[in-house]
Amino acid sequence: MITGPETKLMAVIGDPIGHSLSPFLHSQIIREAGLDAVYLPFLVKAGETGKFTEAARLLKLAGFNATMPHKNALAGLVDELDPEAESYGSVNTVKVLPDGRLRGYNTDVRGLFMAFERHGVKVKDSRIMIIGAGGVAGALIRGCAEAGAESVTMVNRTFEKAAALCGSVPVAKALEWTGENMSRAAAEADVIVNCTSLGMSGTGMDFEDLSFLDDSRALICDLIYNPWETRFLKHAASLGLRTMNGMDMLIYQGLLAFEIFMDVSLDLHSERDRLLPLCRERLTGASE
Ligand code: NAP
Repeated sequence: MITGPETKLMAVIGDPIGHSLSPFLHSQIIREAGLDAVYLPFLVKAGETGKFTEAARLLKLAGFNATMPHKNALAGLVDELDPEAESYGSVNTVKVLPDGRLRGYNTDVRGLFMAFERHGVKVKDSRIMIIGAGGVAGALIRGCAEAGAESVTMVNRTFEKAAALCGSVPVAKALEWTGENMSRAAAEADVIVNCTSLGMSGTGMDFEDLSFLDDSRALICDLIYNPWETRFLKHAASLGLRTMNGMDMLIYQGLLAFEIFMDVSLDLHSERDRLLPLCRERLTGASE
């Protein structure tokens, strides 16, 4: 890779950041498109988001992505918000405009909905069960309502967080995390999405009990992609349920962000088809 004064610089910030697959993903897109650009990971701690936004202006980055714990803070730090990011109060993509202003976007929900589409799932008129009430779940609940979901049921360890999120979304209701509530919600749902970090590699945490899936006929989605197949997904598959992991969401949200940074238009579905096996091999060491 030869860089020069015209090289576009993109980045991803987060804490932790070492695990992020985004630099690999974006480097593959840059290489395939033959662009003069680089995409680098930066460890930025909570509380330092504002310092990084100033650095991004100073260095004239094309833009940057953000992961935990910066998405909500960025919504209050950028100069303008795309309507989706405004609605979700969460920014995962920041474009540095030619005059140095920062415009915040959120490509997470659109990325997940494109992944759903690939798996034959429609959100409109569907009953969605969301497990978790963190940043992504908060954006997803709004996205589902805006896309015409029939109902959204949210279950979270900290019930108050789910109740607060559901309070402003008419089709949504929050439930306490009990076996009975989980089983009833799962039996009624068309799609169940794990938006917690339970089962994620390196956390040492996982679902204690997965029997709530026993009477479900839903498509089971885990936003986690490392490991490729979580215990949650393995159990669902053993029950004969259709499953999807978080890799398609990661790829689509990344492609959408790349289009924003570089002002290009990509063939998103064929790019996804090219990138999926590369990402899988990178993660698991196994090619299909
Ligand atoms: P977050 O804001 O930190 O939320 C974490 C959620 O996990 C909260 O609901 C939290 O519950 C719950 N949780 C954590 N530990 C738990 C435990 N021991 N028992 C029960 N619940 C627990 O995270 P986020 O940014 O929304 O991300 C959520 C997940 O989505 C993560 O796994 C992340 O890697 C994944 N993700 C994937 C993509 C992708 O492209 N595939 C993109 C973004 C995020 P409390 O509210 O009770 O703390």
